[in-house]
Amino acid sequence: MQRSLPVAERPRRPEWMKVRAPSANSRYSEVKGLMREGHLVTICEEARCPNIGECWGRGTATFQILGDTCTRACRYCYVHSGRPESPPDPLEPLRLAQAAAQMGLSHVVVTSVDRDDVPDRGAGHYAATIRALQRKLPGATVEILTPDFLGVEEESLATVLDARPDVFGHNIETVRRLHARMRGAKASYDKALWLLRRVKELAGYRVLTKSGIIVGLGETNDEVVDTMRDLRAHGVDVVTIGQYLQPSPKHAPIDRWVHPDEFRWFREQGEALGFGSVFSGPLVRSSYRADEQRHAAETGRGAVAY
Ligand code: SF4
Repeated sequence: MQRSLPVAERPRRPEWMKVRAPSANSRYSEVKGLMREGHLVTICEEARCPNIGECWGRGTATFQILGDTCTRACRYCYVHSGRPESPPDPLEPLRLAQAAAQMGLSHVVVTSVDRDDVPDRGAGHYAATIRALQRKLPGATVEILTPDFLGVEEESLATVLDARPDVFGHNIETVRRLHARMRGAKASYDKALWLLRRVKELAGYRVLTKSGIIVGLGETNDEVVDTMRDLRAHGVDVVTIGQYLQPSPKHAPIDRWVHPDEFRWFREQGEALGFGSVFSGPLVRSSYRADEQRHAAETGRGAVAY
């Protein structure tokens, strides 16, 4: 097992990773208030995302459904893991749609914890959430970022796709060589690729597929390109690449700070591979400016590096 470095030995955060602390501007406070009022959970807060000041300040956020406890324990993820205490809340989709409407969102992003304790792994709850959003915000597009629906993949994909999300995301997270070490035995690199391809096969309508890669976990740049190549070979339209941040000393250590020039190089490689959109940058997360990612893929505007 990799030891975690004592604080003094840990690589110092470079200039390009520094973000401004969230300011209590009116949009930020409004989003926070709506989340508390609706008893809603966001991945922005659960994962301690460094972009929260910027995204909430723009009046956007990414909703996390199915509770705050994940049944997996990936080595890079800060979301609380354990045994969830309650089944999915049937009123959550309605509260979420209400909050999204109050925020005036034109593109709504929804993700979740893994719920291996629920028979459909949360697929029905995803479908209910998408439908509630479509009813409440008929002009908005809906993006989901799902778990792998362990053991009930086919049925769960059919359930979710029946609700017709506009963007279907499933993160591969890391390169093939590190996948089992970072994600545990239940997840699989090939299963993630299969799932992304199967979405397109089952959809019966035009859906964008999307995946994200975290760098700084010990992979090489060539392995990142190999992963992008695998994603393209499975029909993925949108890819995001961002720097790993170690959430606590118990999590996987940061292997390296990837330089902005390397992110630009990833973007060029992704462009050459034919992705509709490549967002590649130190602070990019799969839901970072997701509306712009979708727009880039739809309009062929292409790749962006921050
Ligand atoms: S990048 Fe995504 S998770 Fe992070 S604050 Fe923005 S919307 Fe939330």
